[in-house]
Formats: sequence, C-alpha cells, structure tokens
Amino acid sequence: MGANSTEFITGGREVDLPARPFRGRMLTDGAWIEAADCERIDRESPAHGVAVSSYPAAKTADVDRAVSAARKAFDRGAWPRLKGAQREAILRRVAEGIVRRKEELALLETLESGKPISQARDEMSGCTDLWVYAAALARNLHGDSYNTLGEDMLGLVIKEPIGVVSLITPWNFPLWILSQKLPFALAAGCTAVVKPSEFTSATTLILGEILLEAGVPAGVVNIVTGTGPDCGAPMVSHPQVDMISFTGSTRVGKAAAATAAGALKKVALELGGKNPQIVFPDCDWEAALDAVVFGVYFNAGECCNSGSRLLVHADIAERFTEAVIERARRVPVGEPLNTRTKVGAIINRNQMRIIGKYLSEATSAGAQVRLGGEPISGVVGLFMQPTVLTGVTREMRVAREEIFGPVLSVLTFETAEEAVAIANETLYGLSAAVWSRDFDICLTAARRIKAGTIWINSFMDGYPELPFGGYRESGIGRELGRAAAEDYTETKTVQMHVGARTGWWLPR
Ligand code: NAD
Repeated sequence: MGANSTEFITGGREVDLPARPFRGRMLTDGAWIEAADCERIDRESPAHGVAVSSYPAAKTADVDRAVSAARKAFDRGAWPRLKGAQREAILRRVAEGIVRRKEELALLETLESGKPISQARDEMSGCTDLWVYAAALARNLHGDSYNTLGEDMLGLVIKEPIGVVSLITPWNFPLWILSQKLPFALAAGCTAVVKPSEFTSATTLILGEILLEAGVPAGVVNIVTGTGPDCGAPMVSHPQVDMISFTGSTRVGKAAAATAAGALKKVALELGGKNPQIVFPDCDWEAALDAVVFGVYFNAGECCNSGSRLLVHADIAERFTEAVIERARRVPVGEPLNTRTKVGAIINRNQMRIIGKYLSEATSAGAQVRLGGEPISGVVGLFMQPTVLTGVTREMRVAREEIFGPVLSVLTFETAEEAVAIANETLYGLSAAVWSRDFDICLTAARRIKAGTIWINSFMDGYPELPFGGYRESGIGRELGRAAAEDYTETKTVQMHVGARTGWWLPR
C-alpha cells in the first residue's frame, strides 16, 4: 500500500464468514429448480477470496420456462385481476419479510459484493421502504375521464398492467435496485421474470422465498440466474415479454434497447453516470468536503450516482483539494464485516483492471495522482486505494467516462457558466450537485445542468417519492415517484356512447 494512503482495516469481523456457501436454485412457477443443463455459477467473496454462493447458470431453455410461467400467470392467473387493496396487503407482507430476514440479506449482499456490512444493513432498510411505498401505489393507480365530449359520449382512460416484464439488475446494489422495479411492476398487476447479476444473485433468490411466503402466487415472479449473454439476452428478445426494465452499463443498455426496438417493446433504462459536484468558494466547506469524499468513495465508487468529478472554483481549488485529500486519506478501507469500514472490496478482477487502465492512461496524459492510485497489495481480497487525480483536463477520459471505482477527477472552473458547460460535457446526465450559499447560482446551475437529479448543498439523498433516472446516455424513463407503477401499465381509451347513434351514411 502506498505511503500516502489510508489505514487498512483487517479483522474485527462482527459476523463470521458462513461455514458453507449459500446454495440457491431458481424460481419458476412457484418451484425451486436447477438449470436444464444442471450447470452452476460459483461466486467468491471479493473481500475474502472464499466461495460464498452458488446458483444455476440459466440459458435460453430456462428463460423460456420462466417466461411461460409469467405469461400464464398474467393471462390466466389471479394477480392482474386482484383488487389494488389485495395486492397492497401482499406487498406490505413482502416488506415485513425483508425486515425479518434483514441480517441474512445484508450478510449475503456484503459477501457477494464486498460492500461494508453497515451499509448493506442500511440498504435493506431502504428496500423495505421501497416495498411499502410501492404497496400504497397499488391502490392509487387510476386513469382519467372526459365528461366534456357531448351528451352522447363519455370517455374513459384506464390503466392496465402492461403484461410480462423482464427485470435485469446489476451487482452494485442488488436488492435495492430490484426494489426500485419489482414492487412497482407488481403493484401495477404485472408478472415478472427477474435476472440478478451473475456476481450477486443470492439476495434476489432469498427475496423469492419472501415473495412466496407473503402470498405472491406461483408464476407471478420467476427468478433466473445466469450471465448476461446466456440468460439476460433471451429475456430481452423473448417474444412473450412485453416490457424490459434494465439497470446496468450504457453499453449493454443500448444493446438491449436495440433488440427491444425490433419488436417495439417498451424499454426502461437506468444506466451510467459521470456526476459532477460543483463547489463554489462561498459554500459550507465542511459539508461540501464531507459530501465530496462520501460521494466518490461510497460503495467504493461502484455507484451510478458516484460524484466522480469534482469541479472546484479556481480561487479555492488547491486549498479545497488538499482538504479533500486529507479526509480521503482517513477513510477506513478494508474488511467489510467490520462495522468501522466505510470502503470495502472491488467487485472482481476485471473491474480492478479497468480502474488500473483508466489511471495509467490519465497519468500518461499528464494527470497527477495526489492520493492512492494503486490496488492495496499484501492483503487478501480486491481492494483499491481511495484515489484523487488532479491536473485533469476536460478532454481526458477520466473527465468524461464512468470509471466505477474510488477515483476522484478534479477539474477547475472560473465562472458559473464554465462550470455548467463542463458539467454538461459528458454523454451522461444522471445527477449533479451544486455547493454554494448563493441561491441564484444554485438554482441557475440546477436549471442548466442536463441531469435527472440535482442536489443543492447535498449529495446522493434519495426518496421513494422522488423520480430517479437519467438524461441522454444515462437512461430512458424514470423510476420511483408516484408515477412509478404507472410505468408498468398500458393506457386504454374506452368510449361509451349514450343513446341512439347517428348513422354515417344510410338514414336510420
Ligand atoms: P452490466 O451492464 O454489465 O450488467 C447489468 C446486468 O445486465 C447484469 O445482470 C448482466 O448479467 C446483464 N447483462 C449483461 N449483458 C447482457 C446482455 N447482452 N443482455 C441482457 N443482459 C445482459 O452492468 P454491471 O457491471 O452489472 O453494473 C454496472 C453498471 O450499472 C454501471 O455502468 C452503472 O452505472 C450502472 N448502474 C446504473 C444505475 C442507475 O440507476 N442509473 C444503478 C446502478 C448501476
């Protein structure tokens, strides 16, 4: 580990590593099954290098079975026809199940993803809140009516569940991201085929048990586990699927959208980001410093909302960056099962390689590593030093592309207009933060930055009530908010004629 880097936490596990790996099966039509070819995927903890879970490696035949079950449950089953109040009651019981199994879920999330256990516990509480919020929407889905079309006509606009939805999720917030989709789809009356990431499938499978216990009928939610090409791709192209909701990389999201376009299927995409935190000299320094450090190192920077760009006013750039480095150096990195740890392991070797490649390219292009910059060596597991890069110029890849690691790229600006221009310079548009006590500066920047979420004097807060999603290559559509269940519906117009109808041509 580099001399300028942070303390590395070893040991002090609050929970022991499990004696045996979690061994999951897939859920299809209410039954727990192996893949048709009986192949499996094994997952090692990236922090401990030991096997922690294993699940079936689904292929097209397994996806077919899962989609058929979801189709049958939608076309002939009770779920879409239940009263909203009945669906609400079941979704609330799911939330209670998540609370009951919170410790088990948090531990598996930590073991598979490498994130700190205290953070995983907070995420489980966040998931519960999402299920409770979505449950309420089951009773609030409604359409519209037009009593203004003349004496002989009443127009109704009704909402119907769209049908079978494929939900595909990434590894960075496995249960949380699924909880931004599934309860809303279920509230609307849809049935689903769910695919978690092949690196973090365990908690989604446990959720399957919770769903059945809560009374979600067989076939309404089917879970397939497998890789993107083998299992995710057939979920997108399947002719019996009506809608795809995908969270993951922009590259895969574009491919999924292109496939779905062939059949004109509805697609919702939550993709990457290169989110700026813009710091003006008059801001609350302590609050901004804390948020910059939290924003980029939370979840080891493996976060779509990662505040991976610091845009700091030239007048304070050196002092502010020094203060960021001083704090970043003290961030506790290491053993995710120790509750003191704030930054855990990187998801896999490939991601370590990607981070390393971005760093070596940046330094070759003239950027300076002011903190970190190396994998943490001499320890078990895949850990990366919290890193700060200065001398980053607007055209460098580390200023424009998502790295998905604990790397802060520092850029400077002279005027508010320039800050907004730099903020808008990437192809992404997920989120941004503005730090200033000047209301005019904050609101003007908030209006001009092309991003789905703007935080003013804050960072990365989220609420089920507030829609979340991206502009441009950060995605299509919004999750959360009161319209979240509506996204999983079709709109139908019903025109009701009252009394005798005037003929078109022949006299009556
Ligand atoms: P990824 O795109 O590699 O994988 C996401 C999911 O898609 C996984 O389940 C994967 O198995 C599956 N997949 C891969 N190839 C597929 C294919 N050809 N067809 C169908 N499915 C396929 O992304 P990841 O590495 O798991 O996650 C990191 C990415 O997710 C980052 O870019 C991050 O920004 C993004 N992300 C976005 C949000 C958001 O809400 N905007 C949230 C979290 C993560």
